[in-house]
Amino acid sequence: MKVRLCRACDHMTGEVDHDCRACTTGASTRPANRQLLVHDRPEGQPVLERADFHAARASLPAHLMNIAHNAPRRLLLSRTRDRGISLSPLGLDHSMVLDPRLGLHLAVLTAAAQRGEDRPVMPLTENAAAHVAAYGAPVRRWGGMQLRYALHGRIPYDAAALRRLYEAHRVTPRLQRLFTEWYLPLCAWRERAGTTPARLPALLKFLRRVDLARPVTPAQEVLAQLQHSVEAGDRRWVMDAHALAHALAHRTDIGSQAEPPQGETG
Ligand SMILES: [Zn+2]
Repeated sequence: MKVRLCRACDHMTGEVDHDCRACTTGASTRPANRQLLVHDRPEGQPVLERADFHAARASLPAHLMNIAHNAPRRLLLSRTRDRGISLSPLGLDHSMVLDPRLGLHLAVLTAAAQRGEDRPVMPLTENAAAHVAAYGAPVRRWGGMQLRYALHGRIPYDAAALRRLYEAHRVTPRLQRLFTEWYLPLCAWRERAGTTPARLPALLKFLRRVDLARPVTPAQEVLAQLQHSVEAGDRRWVMDAHALAHALAHRTDIGSQAEPPQGETG
């Protein structure tokens, strides 16, 4: 293919002639011929459709769909980058690596295959999805597997703000971990529009209250409902105190033994 390379750093800018954004020189580009791995998007096939999302009853994000559909007809899957999966085993230019937007999807599929799962879900923001979806399209259905996206919003993961919050509310290390590593990510998934820092104290208070009401053993019928919700992409349980309490009781990985729930040994 005819491509453009930066005159200063050899970065491949693609087929279109624009100044290099990979190096600080902002140099212009020169024409070159390279053997590339490419994917020609099939005519008349959408980049994204409803089945590509793991979500129940959620409306499809129009903005995301529009951006994703604007991807070029021919996707260049070889890229000049410092690191990445080498394409030289395919007999291609050894100075190039696989485009990370495709590599990201392959990583998820590989991890799922290693666990014997055939319906992996990849969490990402709308903005990220808009930029990677076209590159994932050729592999999202692969060898009996189906990869779907779970869109999540942004969460204010500001370590300093969280520390102040934890100090002000005298939060135990165990609850801190539960909130930071488990509950905030779930909230990010539930609130696709994003979570503002002003919401954090209320969310923390809610989790603490639910944690205190956590049963010693989770009820099987509640766990069955939770399982159903999770599989269907239903996000409501994240703010449902009853369901959340049983989900907490079911957890074993974040220090659930450190502080026994009330009503156990005290
Ligand atoms: Zn350059």
